[in-house]
Amino acid sequence: MRKNYLLTPGPTPLPPEVCEAMAQPILHHRTPQFQAVLKEVTEDLRYVFQTKNDVFILASSGTGAMEAAVVNLVSPGDTVLTVEGGKFGERWTELCAAYEIHAEVIKVEWGKAVDPVLIKEKLKDSKPKIKAVFTTLCETSTGVTNDIKAIGEVVRNTEAVLVVDAISGIGAIDLKTDEWTCDMVISGSQKGLMLPPGLGFISVSPKAWKLIEVSRCPRYYFDLKTAKKALDKTDTPFTPAISLIIALRAALGMMKQDGLEAIFTRHKKMADATRAAMKALGLSLFAPTAASDVVTAVCAPEGIDTEKLVKTMRDSYGVTIAGGQAELKGKVFRIAHMGFIEEFDIILAISCLEKVLAKMGYSFQLGVGVGAAQKVFLG
Ligand SMILES: *Cc1c(COP(=O)(O)O)cnc(C)c1O
Repeated sequence: MRKNYLLTPGPTPLPPEVCEAMAQPILHHRTPQFQAVLKEVTEDLRYVFQTKNDVFILASSGTGAMEAAVVNLVSPGDTVLTVEGGKFGERWTELCAAYEIHAEVIKVEWGKAVDPVLIKEKLKDSKPKIKAVFTTLCETSTGVTNDIKAIGEVVRNTEAVLVVDAISGIGAIDLKTDEWTCDMVISGSQKGLMLPPGLGFISVSPKAWKLIEVSRCPRYYFDLKTAKKALDKTDTPFTPAISLIIALRAALGMMKQDGLEAIFTRHKKMADATRAAMKALGLSLFAPTAASDVVTAVCAPEGIDTEKLVKTMRDSYGVTIAGGQAELKGKVFRIAHMGFIEEFDIILAISCLEKVLAKMGYSFQLGVGVGAAQKVFLG
């Protein structure tokens, strides 16, 4: 017998309510029954995204929604700004390159947050003018949260629009889309929203619509003007991912019941507990400043191979955490505390980590990590 536990920064575990919704017989999408669902989730998405703007649901993973942002906002030859502090920041630059959009890049040392002043300077000095600033709320590859509120203040009074990849942040940590003047906020289904992979989300501000009106990037499936025309009639341009949208209704219902504040508090507590446990175990965080509340990246202890650590936890004990990506492969492991994860999942993951570390010859007092986490949860 094997019981499996998932603590990766996407996909995340599914609540039983979501599994049950997924198992329903299929509805036809051009019916009043499905329209009622679409209306409800569109409204509830506004609550979770903290916006009055439209939030579009795309049948794609999160990256599809990132691509939608790029192709709808700008035109080949335009200049934009991308912030690269990890693998997902780099994705913005790659997407722009694919459409021959010139990206000025701010390279941030991995494990650090971007200094909003650098964005301010680029916006002021760059010629031709920067049309869009592409940022990341949580850089899931390094475990860093960027200060989107401060970035919003910098971008707000310029002609540029602010685009935020919040794929791993929405539904887990605070992102005030309207108050912080985020023009496009992107998310995906398989992170904080507690769904299987397969949906992308994108919110669009009036300032962003102005750019969309004049952009000349080739696009078809991800054309937001087509999506808007359909959404205004509570419809979708193409066949939507019906079962996932029904499941989305269940997930958003749970989130509304808890309330955003309680959700953010739960994530912060789990992050604090995880960080306290790592410290007690004598392990150092990869991102000690600006540490994200959705995933904790931990540096490998001397002589411990993180690939082997992750593999042993998963294959011998059924506890799946993540290793490092790209240049962090073998150097860090990552424990997610996002979505349908709570206190005792974290305790369980730390106890498994302790067991495997002990077996691998790392020296520490068994139970200190679990104890430190318990103390945070008790407090
Ligand atoms: C997971 C993730 C992505 C990629 O999303 P896909 O759904 O795999 O396309 C992009 N950005 C961030 C910050 C992520 O966490």
